[in-house]
Amino acid sequence: MNLSAGLVADEASAFAARTRRISPSASNVASQKAREASAAGRSILNLTVGEPDFETPDHIKQAATDAIWAGQTRYTRADGTPEMKDAVAQKFRRENGLVFAANEITVGCGAKHTIFNAFLATVDDGDEVVIPSPYWGTYPEMVRLAGGMPVIVPTDEASGFKITPAQLEEALTERTRWLVINSPGNPAGGTYSKAELEALADVLERFPRAWVLSDDIYEHILYDGRPFATFAADVPAFAHRTYTVNGVSKAYCMTGWRIGFGAGPRALITEIAKIQSQSTSNPCTISQAAAIAALNGPQDHVFAHRDEFARRRTLMLEGLSGIPGLSVAAPEGAFYVFPGVAALLGRSAPGGGTIANDVDVVAHFLDHGVASVPGSAYGAPDHVRLSFAASDETLREGCRRIAAACEALSG
Ligand code: PMP
Repeated sequence: MNLSAGLVADEASAFAARTRRISPSASNVASQKAREASAAGRSILNLTVGEPDFETPDHIKQAATDAIWAGQTRYTRADGTPEMKDAVAQKFRRENGLVFAANEITVGCGAKHTIFNAFLATVDDGDEVVIPSPYWGTYPEMVRLAGGMPVIVPTDEASGFKITPAQLEEALTERTRWLVINSPGNPAGGTYSKAELEALADVLERFPRAWVLSDDIYEHILYDGRPFATFAADVPAFAHRTYTVNGVSKAYCMTGWRIGFGAGPRALITEIAKIQSQSTSNPCTISQAAAIAALNGPQDHVFAHRDEFARRRTLMLEGLSGIPGLSVAAPEGAFYVFPGVAALLGRSAPGGGTIANDVDVVAHFLDHGVASVPGSAYGAPDHVRLSFAASDETLREGCRRIAAACEALSG
């Protein structure tokens, strides 16, 4: 029985216009293709993964089990329990030197949710949101869902995949609502220093209507001893215009638990809480208990995982070095490499057919048994994203297959 047959025939009028403004997550599409190829019996190494491959630490799981048996199974305050907000406040104080009261903190179902709520609370039809590319593919789609217009500012390897003050100056208008800063960044690992944030603030100063979204979700996956900089702490004069977002997904290997948080001016947090109270209600009560244990508990595993990612980054960079057609920069943070593939375009695949763009490169890599995500999904065509949240063996063999795929191209 095909229950949607009648609707599909007239899709344009059956669904709201906002569904046509957005596309599904490209990394989900890429992982789905990888799963289908594996299900068809092919050996596929999955380098599309956007989450740590480590287990959630035991003391965190234990806190969740304890919460269930202690009867913490009911609704909580819509934007987080007082204990959870307290753990978030302590995290910001301890790690970032930022002081937030409970009514300046919101807890949602992942960083994704807290960002979406902030856009819903602030973006009106036609408002603009400045997003440097390459970007996490969700930002522009969320802006469109909220009725706004993403203003994409392309960056490149030469600038460390970071927006410059001159580029920002050109992108800002009276309609700008937000500048999105994601540091370390997904997918290219670009990381802003304090001085770079200050230089951006100098430009933003003249546009008082624009907020700064600081998406710090990769804060703890930062390499080479580089200091972590974040707008509210490093440009204190901007704290009243900054919404700082973080969460437990990446630092504590808790992607499935769905807890993220944001902190900023009370007026913004109040509006976000209103939206959340009329949409999702509270994030999962049990997950909040687990997240409290994560934030308040021992932190050594956070650094152990970072060191493990650093080791794999080296392995990956060695494996990719010297492959003809790839331009590989070392990411400063996060767990992806984002090689340029422009030199592969125009070449011919052995079975015929020309590699015209990054989507073709990804298809060609998949033919050689490696799943990756096209850079166009991140607003940076001519690149591919390769995750190193995978075992050493997968990474080594993945690089071998990518080398074979590149060498198989002629022309
Ligand atoms: N921001 C960025 C840059 C991300 O890469 C991700 C996860 N892929 C998120 C936010 C969302 O994280 P969460 O699981 O907390 O929703």
